[in-house]
Amino acid sequence: MQAHYTNRVTNLSESITLAISSLARELKAQGKDILSFSAGEPDFDTPQVIKDAAILAIQEGFTKYTATAGIPELLNAISQKLQRDNNLSYSTKEIIVSSGAKHSLFNVFQALIQQDDEVIIPSPYWVTYPELVTFSNGKNIFIQTSEENHFKITKEQLKAAITPKTKILILTSPSNPTGMVYSRKELEEIAEILKGTNIWVLSDEIYEKLIYEGTFISTGSISQDMLERTITINGLSKAVAMTGWRMGYLASKDQKLCKLINNLQGQALSNINSITQKAAIAGLNGSADKDIENMRVAFKQRRDFACEKLNAIPGLSVSKPDGAFYLFINCSAINKDSMQFCKDLLEQVGVAVVPGVGFGMDGYFRFSFATDLKSIEEGIQRISNFVAKQ
Ligand code: PMP
Ligand code: GLU
Repeated sequence: MQAHYTNRVTNLSESITLAISSLARELKAQGKDILSFSAGEPDFDTPQVIKDAAILAIQEGFTKYTATAGIPELLNAISQKLQRDNNLSYSTKEIIVSSGAKHSLFNVFQALIQQDDEVIIPSPYWVTYPELVTFSNGKNIFIQTSEENHFKITKEQLKAAITPKTKILILTSPSNPTGMVYSRKELEEIAEILKGTNIWVLSDEIYEKLIYEGTFISTGSISQDMLERTITINGLSKAVAMTGWRMGYLASKDQKLCKLINNLQGQALSNINSITQKAAIAGLNGSADKDIENMRVAFKQRRDFACEKLNAIPGLSVSKPDGAFYLFINCSAINKDSMQFCKDLLEQVGVAVVPGVGFGMDGYFRFSFATDLKSIEEGIQRISNFVAKQ
């Protein structure tokens, strides 16, 4: 049989973050001595209080289909969390739970983007955004940021990127891969530029709980106008170490948009896993807050340690991130070709990191510090040995 595939799928690239993480796992399974700093995944176990809620759900036989957007109890917990933690007022009709924040993003692009619609993406960006925009027939408009501007877009850059075709602006704060966090003032400036336009903001707040300096501000909390144009994306993967459970959600004041996404999800997925929904409530209602804080403190300690050690390596430099669990390290003095740098690093000293080119910025690589301190110390020593030989 001669197979024919759609352009839609053949044009999709493999997620480079997932690809490198699985390559590292494979090499390890073959017995190679690999230290991986590639995955954007907390090394901590899911808190016990969340596991207990899941066990109870199984024991009580909560194992059937549920409402497509999520069970009322979970939607209530999300609505209350958004009010309490983020100063955002969303009713339960304005929230849809999906299989991870990635799936929520997929749903949003499918509902809002069609031929030639433009999506503004600050670069460096998380690898999945441009792929999903292309998949929806949209056009990626990148704004190139710089380390001098703390990898943040400027007012002038945003104004220059907007055209009559602009449909969505993506904001990711804290950022993957740079860890930068937008301040209230910076968000207010963005809000001022968007006023009077029909541009949606897709605010990806999945790293919101991982803040080491300053405070986290939700984009939709800036003003009524911003609340109405913002689609808030969040989930439990990073905040409570629940990557494998697959739970994410979107919230929007546009109930028609929510209804349309509900229809899409009803045809493509139905509901997310019923057990995960029960477990997620324990991750959202404050029961796991102590665990969340313990993880944050551990991440901060790792960030400080790793930044100090990496900045001591001649030829490498890194700005300390305010949030998330990534370091975006400048390796251009050693090799401007980040793909080659990362390949050599993996082959020669068994350290897996992600090349900056995958995030839209060559000359850098991403190092995830969601790993224990001992491995971080050993990994940085290996990077140092590698760099010394270049
Ligand atoms: N947004 C960002 C910025 C991410 O880094 C990730 C990482 N996986 C996601 C969304 C998706 O997370 P998940 O699908 O596990 O909720
Ligand atoms: N978001 C994480 C990362 O950037 C997990 C992998 C993925 O979903 O791309 O590494």
